[in-house]
Amino acid sequence: MAETIFSKILAGEIPADKVWDDPHCIAIRDISPQAPVHLLVIPRKPIETIDDAAPQDTALLGHLTWVAAEVARREGLGSNGYRLVWNCRDDGGQEVPHIHLHVLGGRRMKWPPG
Ligand code: AMP
Repeated sequence: MAETIFSKILAGEIPADKVWDDPHCIAIRDISPQAPVHLLVIPRKPIETIDDAAPQDTALLGHLTWVAAEVARREGLGSNGYRLVWNCRDDGGQEVPHIHLHVLGGRRMKWPPG
């Protein structure tokens, strides 16, 4: 798979504000936050889009979801709530072709999303 900004962050070639690091994933602060708290949970495994996830990735996807909830809790978002988002390909607004779960919180989210 081609190099992306996230593969470079995972390789330590580009700095990031890391809030979680384990054998399966990292979580970092988004460089252009769309909410008072905006984190990205990024698997070490380079899967291009959530549409490319395979049945053998389900445990990893579950872990990423748990990490998202855990980092949200650590940011104090647990009681008021927050939003988790997977953007997928063009219509979903995905810019970086390495899956990442957005954690957005600290303000009231709108529905439907834009
Ligand atoms: P998406 O549009 O779902 O692909 O989201 C990509 C996200 O990565 C955007 O919210 C960007 O602001 C964020 N981003 C891009 N480069 C960096 C970086 N170097 N460090 C942290 N976040 C980044």
